[in-house]
Amino acid sequence: MERGSLWCKVLRAKYCNANHSKPSSWWLDLSQVCSPEGHEMWFEDNIKRKLREGNDTLFWKDDWLNQGKLIDKYPRLFHLSTQGNYHVKKMGYWTNGTWNWDFKWRRPLRDPENQLLKTFLLSVNTATLHEGSLDSWTWTAAAEGMYTVSSAYDVLQGEIVEERGRIFQNLWEIPAPSNTLAFGWRVLHDRNQTRENLRKRHVLHLEEEVVCPLCFHAEESSSHLLFTCPFAWNVWMATYKWLGITTVLPKEVEGHFLQHISFCWSKRQMLGAWVIWISVIWSIWSHRNAIIFKEGNVDVDKVIDLIQFRSWSWLRGKFKGFCCSLYDWQIQPAFAIAML
Ligand SMILES: [Zn+2]
Repeated sequence: MERGSLWCKVLRAKYCNANHSKPSSWWLDLSQVCSPEGHEMWFEDNIKRKLREGNDTLFWKDDWLNQGKLIDKYPRLFHLSTQGNYHVKKMGYWTNGTWNWDFKWRRPLRDPENQLLKTFLLSVNTATLHEGSLDSWTWTAAAEGMYTVSSAYDVLQGEIVEERGRIFQNLWEIPAPSNTLAFGWRVLHDRNQTRENLRKRHVLHLEEEVVCPLCFHAEESSSHLLFTCPFAWNVWMATYKWLGITTVLPKEVEGHFLQHISFCWSKRQMLGAWVIWISVIWSIWSHRNAIIFKEGNVDVDKVIDLIQFRSWSWLRGKFKGFCCSLYDWQIQPAFAIAML
């Protein structure tokens, strides 16, 4: 939506009454969701101007040809024009149903400018104007061009899918062994072999078969086993204490993965921090397997030692420029990451 556009004025007049100090919540929601700071201009990207007679379309400053704005394509001609803020409708006239352009210049055009004018005319003549019919908007995300809540939802879902794609792309760049990254990928997609997933696939049936082997208090799902189980929670708390960070942990996997890098400023730092994330989930999973298959005991300290050692050795082996000693890594991991 454009500031100062007719739509904007109507909406402001209707929902942003000057007699009231607060605009309506409907208006606040709409302006928030349409703002560039919000969802990446998803609304603006999906509306297109439908040119009819050109009454509400700025000739130079709107992208009415769907080829970019003329002011950007032909800045030299724009500066010579005396019709800089004209609507398309005022840039010419009709004679017997035929449209004629009537461009006005500050001075007669010179040779190079006349050459430019030829391509300019080819561009503007690709449009068809409709006498007596008003310009309108069309919503490109729906086949019939009408805005609907469900089509807007689909657009936003598409962005979420794209965002997830970006998240998962980062995963493969983390400098950790490929089997641990594959495990991380399965966790982020909830495709690892937890007891809950085995129950869903009808491999396990009985209630006692699907219980968490670490706390025996809940079904063993990915998010329980790796994040909310008291054992996992203690491991994460000890990890963040080691990193010198106080945080509230998201319960779902993706949020956890993203929040983990909240203290990082660069891509290298993020990848370094994610090495720790992968080593934590991998270490919890390995510990769980040791308990099930080798009858080990639940031991948070042992897991923390392994997390520190694994993350350090992976970074040493796979990250160029990481030359921290194990001792320094154990004492000041956040400082080592900040140096990445
Ligand atoms: Zn548990």
